Amino acid sequence: MTYFPAFFDLTAQKVLVVGGGEVASRKLALLSRSGAKVRLVAPEIRPEIAAQAAAGEISVVVREFVPSDLDGARLVIVATSRRAVNRWIAALSEARAIPVNVVDDREASRFIVPAIIDRDPVLVAVSTGGASPVLARRLRERLEAIIPKRLGNLALWLQALRRAARRRLPGIDARRRFFEHIVDGAAARRFVEGDTRGAEKLAQQLLARASGSAPESGEVALVGAGPGDPELLTLKALRALQDADVILHDRLVPPAVLDMARRDARRICVGKAAGGIGSTQAEINALLIEHASQGMRVVRLKGGDPFIFGRGGEELQALRQAGIRFSVIPGITAAAGCAAYAGIPLTHRDHAHSVTFITGHGDGDGREPDYQALAKPGITAVFYMGLARVQHIASKLVRHGAPETLPAALIAQGTLENQRVITGTLATIAAAAARAGLESPTLLVVGEVVSLHDSLAWFNAHAQLEVSQSA
Ligand code: SAH
Repeated sequence: MTYFPAFFDLTAQKVLVVGGGEVASRKLALLSRSGAKVRLVAPEIRPEIAAQAAAGEISVVVREFVPSDLDGARLVIVATSRRAVNRWIAALSEARAIPVNVVDDREASRFIVPAIIDRDPVLVAVSTGGASPVLARRLRERLEAIIPKRLGNLALWLQALRRAARRRLPGIDARRRFFEHIVDGAAARRFVEGDTRGAEKLAQQLLARASGSAPESGEVALVGAGPGDPELLTLKALRALQDADVILHDRLVPPAVLDMARRDARRICVGKAAGGIGSTQAEINALLIEHASQGMRVVRLKGGDPFIFGRGGEELQALRQAGIRFSVIPGITAAAGCAAYAGIPLTHRDHAHSVTFITGHGDGDGREPDYQALAKPGITAVFYMGLARVQHIASKLVRHGAPETLPAALIAQGTLENQRVITGTLATIAAAAARAGLESPTLLVVGEVVSLHDSLAWFNAHAQLEVSQSA
């Protein structure tokens, strides 16, 4: 290694710059930020250098360099346009053991200046040892792109936190662990994303937990996981999953979505049929409250959107009663996701001017949807339901005046790799579904818009072709 990497504290130190052109001017910008006392010597200077001198930022001597200019200098930067002069000044500096840099002349330089990524007070310096300035520049550009803009602010915030940590965490190990938690976890991420208050809150919680004082109460985020394709998660949902201590999820949420969560977040399936724990609504509510009361960040993860046939409202009411803070992150509901991936626009100026989402699960108390209204022309009806209800729904619609020839589609495992779309009419759809051997979850779409599927299908389109040919 030819060079020893170091950062030089130049506060109030005398630095000599020789040269008054553009190159010298560029060096001045960094030097003046370092707090150095800069003295520039050159027979001619650019206007911006004169302006800096006039503003008192640097002192300028307008004449040729003389050896006594080196008196008292801690560092010398040479940037005249004459190579021989540069080398002469470098030799003089060397003789007086003053570190010298000649811009673009590595051989004549005692030190070189790296490319930097500036996130003051964080500085990342890149040097190829002079081997390739272009390589250094490219590296710098890449690092520039991946290092968060607010990294410097983060460093200052961490510095400010040190006082509180010293006061409340006596052990050096406890402090180290505390800061590791902050830097590796949600607090730093939030800070860097601009959520200073959220970051501060998390830090205070961590501090309270680490110092053994009463934990702050946790919170619950009610999060929509979308219809299945993990890329349909919102950015907010993703962040909540990565911040979570514990995730209570439905059976409908596919593993690929759960894979997006923080690795050590606890996952609890509260699905009805999966033999998961807490299968009744009361038990789920109790679990949410219990974990949040222990100060955890709880994610309640539901398929699609939590406010559409998701009982999200009921869970929030229970949380409100228990005095637990909550937020709601919407998701793409099955109707929107499945319709998009099946190429069935839910509204269309030629076919439908409104769309209705209906839960087709007979909810046991005999309440039925308003089939009369749903049977009217110009409407798209989307039924969230079990497959077993298809025949029932189709015949109800026909009995209430919908034509038997009205197009209908069943979308199974919508938005997932194995999505299947079966189309027919109210008269044929139930039998077609049985023939195709569809599996839950499935969504039923009824209306003229279904006829557009033939020309607009795009997702898994060739797999779909095989299905309809074999059917
Ligand atoms: N809150 C959810 C709906 C829950 S009800 C949402 O907003 O989407 C569950 C029903 O949603 C299922 O019976 C099925 O009809 C429908 N569903 C959910 N995901 C689906 C998918 N990927 N493909 C087809 N139907 C789906």
